Amino acid sequence: MSRPFGYVYDPRMLLHDCGYDKTMAENPQRIRLIHERLQQDGLLNAEKAIKIEAREASDEELMLNHPKALIDEIAALNNDKLCEEYCKDKEILWTCENTLEAARVASGATIEIVKAAIENRIDNGFAIIRPPGHHSYGKTPRGYCIFNNAVIGAKYALEYLGIKKVAIVDFDYHAGNGTYESVKNDNRIHLTSIHAHHHGAFWPFTREFDYATCNPHTLFVPLNGSMNTEADYLGIFHHVVLPQLRQIKPELIIISAGFDAGYFDIMGPVGQGVKAHGYGHMARLLAEVCPGKTIAVLEGGYFPKNYTESASMLVRGLQGLELPRIEFPKRLSGALVETLWNVLYHHQEWYPELKTKLDKLIEQQKVLKLKEFVPDQILFFGDRMRKIYDDMIKHGICRTKEWFPEVSAEQEKDMNSKIDKYISEYKFSANHDLPNEQQLLAQLVWDEQTRSDAFIQSAPFTTALITEYNAFVDGKIDNMMICDRELVRNAVQNGSFDKHEKYEHPF
Ligand SMILES: [Zn+2]
Repeated sequence: MSRPFGYVYDPRMLLHDCGYDKTMAENPQRIRLIHERLQQDGLLNAEKAIKIEAREASDEELMLNHPKALIDEIAALNNDKLCEEYCKDKEILWTCENTLEAARVASGATIEIVKAAIENRIDNGFAIIRPPGHHSYGKTPRGYCIFNNAVIGAKYALEYLGIKKVAIVDFDYHAGNGTYESVKNDNRIHLTSIHAHHHGAFWPFTREFDYATCNPHTLFVPLNGSMNTEADYLGIFHHVVLPQLRQIKPELIIISAGFDAGYFDIMGPVGQGVKAHGYGHMARLLAEVCPGKTIAVLEGGYFPKNYTESASMLVRGLQGLELPRIEFPKRLSGALVETLWNVLYHHQEWYPELKTKLDKLIEQQKVLKLKEFVPDQILFFGDRMRKIYDDMIKHGICRTKEWFPEVSAEQEKDMNSKIDKYISEYKFSANHDLPNEQQLLAQLVWDEQTRSDAFIQSAPFTTALITEYNAFVDGKIDNMMICDRELVRNAVQNGSFDKHEKYEHPF
């Protein structure tokens, strides 16, 4: 008899609830709605799925990736005032008096479901958990994340379950920066992160999260354009993610499953455009690399209609059920083509399959009488933005709430109808043709059209981010994410913030 699909859900994680800002995008309903949706869809029925019991991770387990001091700090936060104070030198973090318990359960749940997979009790699985983890490392919780659940699960498998090689695949909209910091010196763990970059004008504003990782165990696919589709993401998988994983041969894959790159999640038209079934296909492809031992853990995803639909499709993919078809496009988006060429140049020395592909692409350019692709033409706009963030953190004057504008009723209606529309167009199928080599090579032709698309697609949101920074520095707007003019002014007045040079314009 085949093994059941595994999942974890535990209401103790609902207790992590911000007491001083009721508009937080990362909120308890995220896991409650996902759990309800999966039940409604019959995906957790007893004949096909088994619930793995969550538990609180012990100090020793959390200390696989974090110092005891972090646990002690979070434990001491027993009222809202202390919580908010604690977050004033953290990047986009809120906490409450129940945070430690919920965060221990999220990490313990990950350990238990990983264990169930390695011990052959389940066939793939999904940990419906929060707080998320992929921005946290060492003593630095941030970006809604307390303990890095995916890394703790990976390190637990390596230390206690006899596993030698783990891959973490992070397709959350945001860079898996905490995961990177946690694993960059550990060659037992291969990390893939596909994330918004916008030439460094997007958080975390560092060159590190561009494609040049200088590390064969880390694959970054920085997205400079908005609205890459599910077909673009599958292109990323076929061109670079799957060849690397086939060579690495992981015994366990942990998916950092954030759904905020979903089509019309709260970033709207400047975000990414992955329709829900794209997550199903990505999960299905990963489960083919590592059958039975592919475990998804929830990270971001903030618009209910998007994240519930996406989670449902992800689970369908992990369960090997029919998925809506995705047409294989002749070309990928221009900005992505540019990134993939750079990734291929950068990783070719470590991955023979990628070197062969790159050689064929170079040959294809010649045959088509097109100019050579010139690698490493990097644009980077993050330095000044990083500096201003670092100053807020250093001086403990980070804005602790209301980082994002709320979605209006009108926007919500529009986003729901956009998602409903594509759902109504699903064509379910059990067969998914794989692209052949010619089709894959043709997707990356670097001609004038693709080159101009790369520019046009990356310009609007990158420019908007720079414009916002300039407006803040010029005093035209009062705040920008964790930066707040009033908090800076108060700090200068009371002497805790040194008088220092004026922030510069990027241009
Ligand atoms: Zn995210």
